[in-house]
Amino acid sequence: MQPLVIELREITKRYGRLDALRNVSFSVPVRSVLTIFGPNGSGKTTLIRILATLLRPTSGMARIVGHDPVQECGDVRKQIGVVLHQSLLYETLTARENLEFYGKMFGVSDMSARIKYVLESVGLAERGDDIIRAFSRGMQQRVAIARALLHDPQVLLLDEAFSGLDANAVATLRQLLERFHQEGRAIVLTTHHYQLGLELATHAALLVNGGLRYFGEPTGVMSAIDAINHPPSQDTEP
Ligand code: ADP
Ligand code: MG
Repeated sequence: MQPLVIELREITKRYGRLDALRNVSFSVPVRSVLTIFGPNGSGKTTLIRILATLLRPTSGMARIVGHDPVQECGDVRKQIGVVLHQSLLYETLTARENLEFYGKMFGVSDMSARIKYVLESVGLAERGDDIIRAFSRGMQQRVAIARALLHDPQVLLLDEAFSGLDANAVATLRQLLERFHQEGRAIVLTTHHYQLGLELATHAALLVNGGLRYFGEPTGVMSAIDAINHPPSQDTEP
């Protein structure tokens, strides 16, 4: 059996009476790209945040690169790079200063070479000394991605990382993810760009109201999405 990069068993996250996730189970082999689809409020961000060690599940078991994100969050954090919708950068610092700050937190060795490499990877080699506030949303997102790559993680987790980016920035990010995957690493992403999400994916999941409606080959997910958008019409004939 192929080793797994992510394994979820019966993961539930409850807020009061609402199940943001309900008994979600699946596993993803190493070197995979998993795209999580689903309408607003279906639990995609909740799932990414659980994998990213930012949120504890109410019940169930999760493993990411063999570690439990609750019990072994330090081990998980070393292996993952996280890009959330909000870039969480210090606006008054330069791109390089932001990266240095995170690099120190992660104990990145050979920091200046590593920062040069990640800035080049996201196409910002010339902009490292500009302050974040002067950057467009697309450029800020690219710095956030550079930060996620800084400690050379095995898995990238991206929540709506493409949203608000122009076509150029989307293309740059896409190439970057393809390269990351070709290097043998895994990606979990959520996106509203169905086409892009499908083209990148080796595996697809569909969440609806916190439940896993589909998991498997990317080719099968569109008909599952169509089924929730156009449910079979009720037969109103007597
Ligand atoms: P998605 O990312 O697919 O849009 P989310 O994971 O953000 O969905 O949210 C799933 C559900 O959980 C939604 O109904 C949302 O309102 C609810 N939810 C998310 N975070 C909280 C919270 N901190 N407190 C209460 N409900 C929450
Ligand atoms: Mg979300």
